[in-house]
Amino acid sequence: MAAELEIESALAAVRSASELCSGAQGRLAAGDTLTKGDESPVTVADFASQAVVCAALTDALGPIDMVGEEDSDDLRNDGRTALREGVVALVRHQLGDDVSESSVIDLISVGSADGRSDRYWTLDPIDGTKGFLRGEQYAIALALIERGEVLLGVLGCPNLPNPDGTTGALFVATPGSCVAYYGSSTQALPIRVAAPASVAEARFCESVESGHSNQDDSARIASLLGISAEPYRIDSQCKYAAVARGDASIYLRLPTRADYREKIWDHAAGKFVVEQAGGRVTDVTGAPLDFTHGPKLEQNRGIVATDGRFHDQVIAAVTTVLGS
Ligand code: AMP
Ligand code: MG
Repeated sequence: MAAELEIESALAAVRSASELCSGAQGRLAAGDTLTKGDESPVTVADFASQAVVCAALTDALGPIDMVGEEDSDDLRNDGRTALREGVVALVRHQLGDDVSESSVIDLISVGSADGRSDRYWTLDPIDGTKGFLRGEQYAIALALIERGEVLLGVLGCPNLPNPDGTTGALFVATPGSCVAYYGSSTQALPIRVAAPASVAEARFCESVESGHSNQDDSARIASLLGISAEPYRIDSQCKYAAVARGDASIYLRLPTRADYREKIWDHAAGKFVVEQAGGRVTDVTGAPLDFTHGPKLEQNRGIVATDGRFHDQVIAAVTTVLGS
């Protein structure tokens, strides 16, 4: 079980990073973005968000094992001075002017654990960086894992429109409970999956980026299930949030290449949010996600998340389309 202090500090950490990212979205300058070795973009806000989450957790809990997406080495290289300064400015804006550049780098480096210890945190400081850059959806995703079991999942979705008309949501899943806080409210709203009467009436969500999930295969699967609603395309783990609160009842993430392995920080928090809201999450074969192989889900392919009721039907259709 996660301790009360761990839950409270994870919530405070993601709230603080959500504020930082929301303030930075749409205000980045030309030199604030870098393309990483794997061709994915990273911004000053990704690094700053990781620093702020690590600061909140280590202040409250002392030393932690953290598998964070960002690597402080990307800021240390020559020629990265402007990027580094941009990160430090954002962190100072959030934490105060007395934070030194070297302590910002040290905070980002807290996230360099390998995910092979018994108990570790994993963080995607901005999941869906492409959505963040487009001015659309992204998430701050933090989870605590013990011997392969997720114990705590927190998803900050600062730009997510809510049913009550507010913008920005924070989802918190602990064993047996999933709640959300909408806008600036401190009221914890219970979150439950919802599904229509038949799978044919279901709405499914998937990545905006066709390079992250095979949209031709998802169209074939939808057609096989008799689903006629257009896919709900939304970046980041906001897809898990969408399934958890019933905006959609299926999330399909279908491999675009045979050798891609999903990253633990892209799924741990979101998967737990869906499960504690009453849904089910597996890979495309129906196997449970296995968080015991370090930073990647080495034993899994793709993701299928559902309200639970339609899961077996969806997996059967996925198997037919992708082949077993
Ligand atoms: P999404 O916003 O759901 O499209 O997912 C964003 C995440 O996709 C990023 O955090 C990346 O780690 C991940 N990603 C990058 N390339 C791929 C790929 N080929 N297949 C699946 N996920 C990917
Ligand atoms: Mg990500």
